[in-house]
Amino acid sequence: MRSLMAAILVFGLIVQSAYAQPSPAGQANTANVSACANDPSWTAPQKPVRIYGNTWHVGPHGLGVFLITASTGDVLIDGGVPEDASLIEANIRSLGIDPHGIKWILNSHAHCDHAGGIAQLALDTGAQVIASAADIELLTRGGHDDPEYGDRFVFPPVQATRKVTDGEHLRLGDLVLTAHSTPGHTKGNTTWTWTSCEGKRCLQMVDVGSLSAPDYELIDNPKYPDIVKDYEYSFAMVSALPCDIALAPHPGMVNFWERVAKREKGDANALMDPTLCRAYAKAAREGFETQVAKQRAQAASAK
Ligand SMILES: [Zn+2]
Repeated sequence: MRSLMAAILVFGLIVQSAYAQPSPAGQANTANVSACANDPSWTAPQKPVRIYGNTWHVGPHGLGVFLITASTGDVLIDGGVPEDASLIEANIRSLGIDPHGIKWILNSHAHCDHAGGIAQLALDTGAQVIASAADIELLTRGGHDDPEYGDRFVFPPVQATRKVTDGEHLRLGDLVLTAHSTPGHTKGNTTWTWTSCEGKRCLQMVDVGSLSAPDYELIDNPKYPDIVKDYEYSFAMVSALPCDIALAPHPGMVNFWERVAKREKGDANALMDPTLCRAYAKAAREGFETQVAKQRAQAASAK
């Protein structure tokens, strides 16, 4: 028993120190990533898709990674799992776009399936990483000590060099991106909005932050006492956003691939749905409130 405990302790320390090791020049430390890349769709190759105007899906099939081009440089939102960095760069190159033109990498939230590839991408492109103040610590810790996951889903630590605050506008040439704080899924979970145009027709693009709470401890969580209040704030925030094309860190959240398939069959406006942000927030709120009620009942019966 004692040796088992020792083994668990040693393993725990190994897991804890993963990504704290120095890595060879030019390479982010991607040791011990299997816990993150556990969904095959998260590393499944996918040809880039032009979503609208200057906005592209450049990630693997199962994760939303978006390239937005501007007159003076390009912006990437999220970086997939650690193994996705080279896939994302190859996708961008296949569009005839040089990844070195990426000026900023924005993060939706500091979980390994959206921030995992960012350290490598930043290293390769020279881009500045921008994230919310509330998630920067989790990014620089490489996902360690997550309020819900502990050290289960660590990733190469990201040195975010610029913090954004709620409602802040970031300007790059003719592109303006706005950060909307939508906390809960992580404390700094961020919904990004911008405008994309084709000719004179400009649409409100929204990368809706994750509003799910998979197996989260929502009641009396000492690491995140305000979590329920934060989710409720975020449901209301997402519901109220002007939203012509809703995108998401996980394409399934907004039926992205079904809509792309419909568009390929001739429905030119299949990706447009001004009700989708509201509908997504409503469905997430209903699921969340059921989860909270269940956990409240369990907490009451345990007393
Ligand atoms: Zn997440």
